[in-house]
Amino acid sequence: MVDDATIAGIAAERFGIEGELRRLPGERDVNVVLDGRRGRFAVKIANAAERIDALDMQASALAHIGLTDPDLPVPRPIATIDGPYTTVVDIEGHQHGVRAVTYLEGHLAELDDPVTTELAASIGATLARLERALQGFFHPAANRHLLWDARNAADLLPWTEAVADAELRRTVATTIERYAAGTATRMAGLPAQVIHNDLHTANLLVAAPGSAAITGVIDFGDMVHGARAQDVATAVAYCLFGTDDPAAMAARVVASFCSRTRLERAEVEALPSLVAVRLAQSITIGARRAEIHTEKAARILADVAEAGVALDRWLALDPGDVEAALLAAAGHPLPTRSTADVLRSRAAHLHPGLHLSYDEPLHLVRGEGVRLYDAAGRRYLDAYNNVPQVGYGNRRVAAAVANQMAMLNTNTRYLTDAVVDYAERLAALLPEPLDTCLFVNSGTEANDLAIRMARAVTGRRGVVVSERAYHGWTEGVLEVSPEELRPDRMARHVATIPPPRPGEDPTLAARRAIAGLEADGFAPAALMVDTIFSSDGIHDPWPGSLAAVAAVVRAGGGLFIADEVQAGLGRVGTRFWGFAADGVVPDLVTLGKPAGNGFPVGVVVTSHALAEQFAASEYFFSTFGGNPVAAAAATTVLSITLEDELPQRAEAVGHMLRSGIADIVGRVGVAAEIRGAGTFIGVDLGDGAVAKRVVEGMRASMVLVGTTGWRDAVVKIRPPLVFGEDDAAELLVALDDVMSTI
Ligand code: PMP
Repeated sequence: MVDDATIAGIAAERFGIEGELRRLPGERDVNVVLDGRRGRFAVKIANAAERIDALDMQASALAHIGLTDPDLPVPRPIATIDGPYTTVVDIEGHQHGVRAVTYLEGHLAELDDPVTTELAASIGATLARLERALQGFFHPAANRHLLWDARNAADLLPWTEAVADAELRRTVATTIERYAAGTATRMAGLPAQVIHNDLHTANLLVAAPGSAAITGVIDFGDMVHGARAQDVATAVAYCLFGTDDPAAMAARVVASFCSRTRLERAEVEALPSLVAVRLAQSITIGARRAEIHTEKAARILADVAEAGVALDRWLALDPGDVEAALLAAAGHPLPTRSTADVLRSRAAHLHPGLHLSYDEPLHLVRGEGVRLYDAAGRRYLDAYNNVPQVGYGNRRVAAAVANQMAMLNTNTRYLTDAVVDYAERLAALLPEPLDTCLFVNSGTEANDLAIRMARAVTGRRGVVVSERAYHGWTEGVLEVSPEELRPDRMARHVATIPPPRPGEDPTLAARRAIAGLEADGFAPAALMVDTIFSSDGIHDPWPGSLAAVAAVVRAGGGLFIADEVQAGLGRVGTRFWGFAADGVVPDLVTLGKPAGNGFPVGVVVTSHALAEQFAASEYFFSTFGGNPVAAAAATTVLSITLEDELPQRAEAVGHMLRSGIADIVGRVGVAAEIRGAGTFIGVDLGDGAVAKRVVEGMRASMVLVGTTGWRDAVVKIRPPLVFGEDDAAELLVALDDVMSTI
C-alpha cells in the first residue's frame, strides 16, 4: 500500500501539485485529493494491471472534451512537468500509471440510489453531449477487448456459473445467447465511435443528494470504440434499478438523448436487446467479482440482485411495446397497426366524406423514389402522385427539412434567408413582371388568396373557370370548383368555359361566360385556369388558346390567374409551366402540391405593382406560410428538379408513355383519346366503368394510376417527376396485360 507521503511526493515532483492530501474511495486505483494553492486536484495512481496506453486514452479524451464541449463537466487532465498526461512510477517493484485531473465538486450517488425521471432525463441529455463531444476523438487504445463491451457478451457465458440463483442464471444465459444469435450480428452496421461505456449514477456527480442537476461525469475507465447504441443502452440499463415502470424510464432516457442528437432507427431497434445484455453482463461480472472479493461480496451481490430484478422486469415487457415506446421517444415513426384496425379507426375518427382509393384500400407504410410499400411489404409502382416530385423519402429534402427544423423555424415577420432565397429563385423561373411572392400552405390557400387579390385589385366579383375545374376546398375556392359542386349550388358570380379544344375558337365561350356574368350583374375579377385542365379530363392547352381566353377576360377588366398547382414546376416538360404553352403572362400564378415534395408549401406569385395595390387595401399574413422549413423544402425541390433535369425527363418519359399507350390501345382495339403533356397523361376511354376496370386491374398488377374527368372516364397517369424510362416500360407492360383483358 502506497503511503500519503509517497503520493504527495509523486504529485509534487511529476505534476507540480502540492496541497493537503485526502484519500478518496476507489476500487482498483488509489485516488487522492490535493487541496492547494493552485486549486483542488485528484491524483490517480492506477492499478499495476492497467495498461498505460488506456490511461493515456482517458486523459486524451478528457482533453478532447475540453476543446469540443468546454462546459461539459468532466475532469480536465493536468499534464506532467515533462509534457505527457500520464507518468509511470515504480511502487514496490510494480509499474503504475499516474494521472492528475481537476477535482469536480458534487455529490457522488450510489449505483442503487433510485433514479428519478428527472435524473434519467439529465442522464440522457448528458450522454448525448458526451457522445457528441467525443465524436471526433480517436486513440489506438480504444481498439481493445473489454468484457464490459456488449459485443463480447458471449465471452461471459462460462462465468454465468457464478450466478447463485438458478433461475437468474438461466435468464442471464438465455439473454446473452439470444443477443449473440440476433442483435450481435447487426452491431457492426451501427454508428460507432469512442464511447464512455459506463454512464450510471455511481459515475456521476450531482449538485446534492436526490438532485437531477449533473455536476460531473467521472470514470472514463471503460472507454472503447463501440456502437453509440451501447452507450445509450448502458445508461438506460442502470436507470432501471428500482423502477417499476421500466419502459417509461427507458423512453425518458432515449427521448432526452434524442432531444440533443439523433438515433437511427436501427440503433433504437437494437436497444431492447442491448439493455438486457448490459444487465446480464452486470449480473455475471458482479457474481464473479463477489467470488473473488469476498470481503465486498455482500455489497456487490446487492447490486447483482438489483440488476436481476431489473432484468426480469425488462424481459417481462412485451418486446413490441418496448420497441414502439423507444421508437416514439426517438422520434421515429411507429410500426403500423393491422390494416383492419386502421380501417376501423379511420371509419370511427376520420371525416366520412373522405373516400379511399381502390376497392381494396392501400395501407401504406413507406415510400422510396417512385415506389410505395404497403403493410404486407408489397411494392407498388406509383404512377399517380405528383406531390413527391423528387421521389418519396428523398433524403436531400428530408435532411434540409430536419436541419432547418433543428436550426430555426419562424415566420415571415422576421428576416430569414431561406424564404427570400426561394422567392428569388421562383421569380427567376417566371416571366417578368412576376417577381413577388405571397407564401401560404397549400394550393387551396394560394387560390383563395389569388382570387381575393384579384377581387381587391379590380373591385369586381365575377370569376370565370373551366366547366369541371377544381381549385380547392375553402368556401372561397369551392365556389369556383364546379367539379365538386352540384349545378344548383353554382354561384351566380361564377361562369364556366369548356377546356380549349383544337379547332374550336375558345374566345366564343369566354365571351358567353362574361356576358352571362354581366347579365347577372357581375363583372369579371378573374379568369382562373388549371393550365393542364386536369379535372376537366386533362387537356394540354393548344398554343394561343390560353392567350386568347385571357385577352377576352382582360378586355372585360379581369385578371388572369394561372393555377399551376398541377402543371407547374416541370410537370408538363421543358416549358416548365402550363401557361407557357403560349406567350401569355398571367397576372397571378399559384403553386402548391409538388412544391415541397409533401411538405406543405403554397405560393402566389404576382407583379410587385399588383401586390402593392393589394397591400394598400387588404391585410395578409400567414403564420406558417413561407416558414424557413417550408422554404428549405421548396428550395431543395427546385434544386433537384433543375439539377437532375426532371422537366427534360418528363418530356422524354411522357413521350415514351404516350406512344406506348397509343400502341397498346391500337393493338387491343380500344377506342381511346390520349391527351396531356410531359408526364401528365390522360387516356380518355369514354366510359367510367371501363376506366375503373383499368385502374383496378393496374392496381392488381402493382401499378397505381387513377381517373379524372367527366364520369371519371379518363385514366390519369401523373407519376412523381423522377419517374424514369424503366418505370415507364414497367407501366406499359402492366397496361398491355390489363387492356388485353378488359
Ligand atoms: N388547384 C388544382 C388545379 C388542384 O388540382 C388542387 C388539388 N387537387 C388544388 C388546387 C388544391 O390543392 P390542395 O388540395 O393542396 O389545397
